Amino acid sequence: MARMSRFYITTPIFYVNGDPHLGTAYAAINADAFARWHRLLGDEVLFLTGTDEHGLKIQQSADEHGISPQAWVDQTASRFMSAWQELAISFDDFIRTTQDRHHRTVQKFLTAIYENGYIEKGYYIGLYCVACEAYYEESELLDGNRCPIHERPVSEMSEENYFFKLSAFTEKLIELYESGKIKVAPEFRVNEVLGFLRQGLKDISITRTSISWGVQVPWDEQHVFYVWYDALINYLTAISYGDDEARFAKWWPAVHHLLGKDIIRFHAVWWPAMCLAAGIDPPSQLLVSGWLLVDGAKMSKSSENQIDPLSVVRELSADALRYYLLASTSFGSDGDVSLDRLRASYNADLANDLGNLVSRTVALIVQKLGGMTPPTPVRDERINPLIDILLEGVAAWNEFRPNAALGAAMGMVRFSNSLLEEYEPWRRPAEDAGSIWCLGTIREALRLAAALLSPAIPNASSGVLSRLGWQELGPLEWSAGGEVRELVRAQPLFPRLAKEGR
Ligand SMILES: [Zn+2]
Repeated sequence: MARMSRFYITTPIFYVNGDPHLGTAYAAINADAFARWHRLLGDEVLFLTGTDEHGLKIQQSADEHGISPQAWVDQTASRFMSAWQELAISFDDFIRTTQDRHHRTVQKFLTAIYENGYIEKGYYIGLYCVACEAYYEESELLDGNRCPIHERPVSEMSEENYFFKLSAFTEKLIELYESGKIKVAPEFRVNEVLGFLRQGLKDISITRTSISWGVQVPWDEQHVFYVWYDALINYLTAISYGDDEARFAKWWPAVHHLLGKDIIRFHAVWWPAMCLAAGIDPPSQLLVSGWLLVDGAKMSKSSENQIDPLSVVRELSADALRYYLLASTSFGSDGDVSLDRLRASYNADLANDLGNLVSRTVALIVQKLGGMTPPTPVRDERINPLIDILLEGVAAWNEFRPNAALGAAMGMVRFSNSLLEEYEPWRRPAEDAGSIWCLGTIREALRLAAALLSPAIPNASSGVLSRLGWQELGPLEWSAGGEVRELVRAQPLFPRLAKEGR
């Protein structure tokens, strides 16, 4: 896979009418891991996340709490920002849709669409779910006219508003997906998008007069833009659309939009059509994640099986949660997770395999070599299996397959453990050549495994490196020789959990 010199990745912006939960954390952690991987490759990275702060539901919640919508979203947005800090989400920019910069971008972008003739006034009657802030076709609803996502009755709404001529883009979008100009990972999602497109697209209403909490339509002050429209445009706000053409051209359209499968229609249909209507290229790639099931059940706010990400961080660490979510799910498919399996994964992979190997290696270097690190041996056929696994891991990160990349890292760890068992340096004299070779090989293998692990467990990976005397990660390839460093025994990287169950 060709190296990219720039990498722009986005998460969906999270709706602030609730607290961060496992599902939103999963999206943020996946995007963060991809951003960290590309920084490690030396790419210039822009990692954007943020909060979606407009819409009827937020206006209603603010009213219920007797405060202004702005005061309400200021409180809730700060909970996301601090949660992302606890989860080690290394965003470069955090956008809030209530910011002035975003209002200006939305108005410029939609004015361009209006002037290109793709927005016009009409009268809309439809079935509306307040929780989704979306209209539904009757055929999409559950029995009793209930929302398919919230399972609550929808209500009939009618209003005069502006329509986006989505129908004008049906053929063009089909062509963009069939030709692979817009890439989708995993690939099977393309068929889902094409199936929807081939049913034909209807024009959609994009403004509201019934609410005031939103971005005002610049050519008609009675209207505000529908929350979904304004939200999608955040991806352009952050790269100075309409404000700094050079900066915009630097990052667009080579963007990677990470999203959950439940919002694929907004990102795969509406959003590229809006871009085309405004006269810019559509986004180049959609990374569509599946849902997380907790003990086999879809997460919901009311369900008791919810795993609270911040409780896990406080009990174990951000690394433990991040590792488990990335290693135990296949990006793009639904994943089934549980707290018991999270603890088991922590003990087996992190505490036993990785943590013990680091501790034993350091202890042997201290005991046998007076703490002085052995040189990294020149690559030979005994080392080739490690290189093969490393290359698999590199390819997996480049292809947005975190579980395979982390599986490769743990493969390097287990291969190193088997070398230790084979050479048994503790039974050999200090100057034994095989023993020195073994310890030098394992130390270098752990440096490279730490590189593969670092997008998932950034803190512990630094711990691996510093315990083994590496001052920095260094090149992503086997590097013979190296300076001598003096090691000392340190605390275990991952204190073992006393019990795996609750
Ligand atoms: Zn709904």
